[in-house]
Amino acid sequence: MIDFEYHAPTSLDQVFGLLEQYGDDCRIMAGGTALVIQMKQRLSQPSHVIGLRNVENLNSIESTPEGVRIGGLCTQRQIENSILIGEDLPLLTDTFRKVATPRIRNMATIGGGLVNGDPNQDPPPALIALGASAFMTSSSGDRVVPLEDFFIDYYETDVQPGEVMTSVLVPRAPVGSGSVYLKFLPRTADDYGTVSVASVVSKKQDGTCKDVRIVLGSAGVTPIRAKDAEDALRGKPLTDENIRAAAALVKDVVDPLEDFRGSAEYKTDMSEVFARRAVEQAIAAIPVGS
Ligand SMILES: Cc1cc2nc3c(=O)[nH]c(=O)nc-3n(C[C@H](O)[C@H](O)[C@H](O)COP(=O)(O)OP(=O)(O)OC[C@H]3O[C@@H](n4cnc5c(N)ncnc54)[C@H](O)[C@@H]3O)c2cc1C
Repeated sequence: MIDFEYHAPTSLDQVFGLLEQYGDDCRIMAGGTALVIQMKQRLSQPSHVIGLRNVENLNSIESTPEGVRIGGLCTQRQIENSILIGEDLPLLTDTFRKVATPRIRNMATIGGGLVNGDPNQDPPPALIALGASAFMTSSSGDRVVPLEDFFIDYYETDVQPGEVMTSVLVPRAPVGSGSVYLKFLPRTADDYGTVSVASVVSKKQDGTCKDVRIVLGSAGVTPIRAKDAEDALRGKPLTDENIRAAAALVKDVVDPLEDFRGSAEYKTDMSEVFARRAVEQAIAAIPVGS
């Protein structure tokens, strides 16, 4: 790793000043679980690192009328253990609990993971399925980006120069909906998923599908929302046949990378299988009487 100077600002204004002063020659560090590896591998060689740890007001979890606002510096462990999130957004509790190991979750932050843009990460599919948005804050104010539009390419996200992800706003899932995050882990329990799927489903009184979200991870260079599959199910009876037909459409939108977790063909097949299971399990999780 090359030598660098570490800065520990205590306010966002100081962060913005440092970002402006050092420009391309500096990087923000939150938990450091991704950045330090990239620096050791010399994929990133900043002369200045701006640690966010001492910056105030970036790690609270608050209930708002629009949903739950999660500070950009909240650790994955904090989110997993939050009573508020457990009550309002159980899909996130389940998802964050499936990330790596407690050791990583104690350090890694929601903002760091999202900005990192690794398509194998667990939180993005669940957050996109819930319709979450990121607050990207700079000296000019806030820019709100739906997470569905945030991931541009492999490890490339919509972060503009001078911006810090200060919070993520997650709308509560509709009343009477069920949700699930499935992570296919054929190797070890702390691995990245071979494929993963988040789904949120709600149904009407007559049993037809009111709304559905299906978002896949590890199935391309970014998280992928399977809109055609969703459209195929919305308004239809939630029968096995309709769910299978919808899940089959997932194969047309995924484009997985071949790696030691499986060939692209295998991951494509597993995307369909896990999309079907995710929708089935989300339906099973709809509260009785809804
Ligand atoms: C051994 C290991 C196993 C893992 N397994 C999993 C897994 O199973 N599932 C999974 O989902 N993930 C896994 N991960 C990845 C982990 O979730 C990410 O490394 C982590 O989320 C990154 O967060 P961080 O706070 O450490 O980010 P950092 O490493 O501090 O930063 C990452 C990037 O984001 C930028 N950044 C950080 N915070 C902000 C901010 N607030 N605003 C703007 N830019 C910011 C940094 O400049 C850097 O480019 C694993 C990582 C390791 C090391």
